[in-house]
Amino acid sequence: MRTYEHWIAGRQHRGEGDRLTDVFDPALGAPQAQVRLATANDVDAAVGAATQAQASWLQTSVTARSRIMFAFRELLVQHEDELAHVISSEHGKTLDDARGEVVRGREVVEFACGIPQLLKGEFNDQVSGGVDSHSFRQPLGVVAGITPFNFPIMVPLWMHPVAIACGNTFVLKPSERVPGASDLVARLYAQAGLPDGVFNVVHGDRTAVDAILEHPGIAAVSFVGSTPVARYVHEGATRTGKRVQALGGAKNHAVVMPDADLDFAADHLAAAGYGSAGQRCMAISAVVAVGPAADTLVDKVRERTRALKVGAGSDPDTEMGPVVTQASRDRIVDYIGQGESAGAKVVVDGREVVGEHGDGFFVGPTLIDHVSTDMSVYTDEIFGPVLAVLRVDSLDEAIELVNANPYGNGTAVFTSSGEVARTFQRRVSVGMIGINVPVPVPMAFHSFGGWKDSLFGDHHIHGPDGVRFYTQAKVVTTRWPHVSENSLAQLNFPTAQ
Ligand code: NAD
Repeated sequence: MRTYEHWIAGRQHRGEGDRLTDVFDPALGAPQAQVRLATANDVDAAVGAATQAQASWLQTSVTARSRIMFAFRELLVQHEDELAHVISSEHGKTLDDARGEVVRGREVVEFACGIPQLLKGEFNDQVSGGVDSHSFRQPLGVVAGITPFNFPIMVPLWMHPVAIACGNTFVLKPSERVPGASDLVARLYAQAGLPDGVFNVVHGDRTAVDAILEHPGIAAVSFVGSTPVARYVHEGATRTGKRVQALGGAKNHAVVMPDADLDFAADHLAAAGYGSAGQRCMAISAVVAVGPAADTLVDKVRERTRALKVGAGSDPDTEMGPVVTQASRDRIVDYIGQGESAGAKVVVDGREVVGEHGDGFFVGPTLIDHVSTDMSVYTDEIFGPVLAVLRVDSLDEAIELVNANPYGNGTAVFTSSGEVARTFQRRVSVGMIGINVPVPVPMAFHSFGGWKDSLFGDHHIHGPDGVRFYTQAKVVTTRWPHVSENSLAQLNFPTAQ
């Protein structure tokens, strides 16, 4: 069985520790590889390599950095299938879904290819007599990324192409459940001509995360994962003086108005709730049916839920694969039971699928109606294929419900009214909003980020905010005095002449 090792200074690096953990194939419910978990010394070795590489990477021209991103982008195209297979086999999602993830991540590399344009500074001529002023941005140094299991390539790609193109060097700590994609990405960067030490991977768990948070050589941390860990990372990194953006969990609502096309809405709700077995931070998990929309909508979503084909992600006919671990499956099954006990109506019961696929970590798509806001099936992020339907009487009530939720990652409204759409987008306390678009993940040239408990920090990720996060500004005021000029030096605070 293969053991994944770290990638430091342009080569595989056998960590000093002996702690290994299994990497599962969720469709089989069996280990397929192991990964070595980093010690604090392994993290230190990665930061050392990144620090050494940073001095010359900073001196590398912005056009050369951009060319490496172009080469890396081409390799991601060539290796799309291989990456999709690795992702599907470790995560469980279907191959097509995994390909989609590779493409959406690659778009961030395409954005980073434009780094010469993105890093253009600003210039003012003659801010005072004979004085000009310009500003430009410089990289932070060594930056780190800590990423979740559910997008093994896309979420890390939200971070490192932008950070590296800006002139930083990078230490990635991917989820220990899905190490394969990051290992391949490290090799592709090397093939693209990225100098050794600019991109490093340390596999690990909390020990590695703590070492990153404590390390004085790391200037900034980008984190994506669950809310409790996001809060922990934000507090830890802030305490040690680092810049930090920590994206957390979610409970995304889709509000369905009675004037919506209910067939269209039902198609999209099933796709958004059950795609990737509901393990997307932008998955819809709460449907808020307004007024008379509810009964017809539930009927239509039920039809679609029942028709979904569940199976191994590698089977081309599969529409929904397993969840990532046995513990996830058990947690999801437990939540369905809690909803039922609390009085909700289980319309389609995913528990029936458990055990149908051998030892694989399967739970079927589940639709639960008549859910109220005090039930755990609503209050908690289940992170599985469970759609909870809540019923309200008006748009105002729907908006209040969305805003009372502590998460604020994504939300959507299904409507045929421009006025409803405009009211909704202006009043919801949520970072990413879809109008008849259930999974409104911003394109790479916009930034991605939620509000409230879905993001701790000041910057969203990738896009223009990504460039701002990974750089700091300088403003230069310049004068070239003629030798015979009156110097105009004065003890008063200088003002424009
Ligand atoms: P997770 O929080 O368990 O793990 C994320 C990372 O933190 C991993 O690298 C993991 O090794 C590390 N980690 C886990 N527990 C830790 C601890 N106690 N101390 C320090 N580090 C720890 O998340 P996950 O289960 O891998 O991913 C699913 C979660 O990520 C969901 O909550 C989902 O909503 C969220 N997510 C959010 C976004 C977003 O953009 N907001 C995107 C993807 C996933």
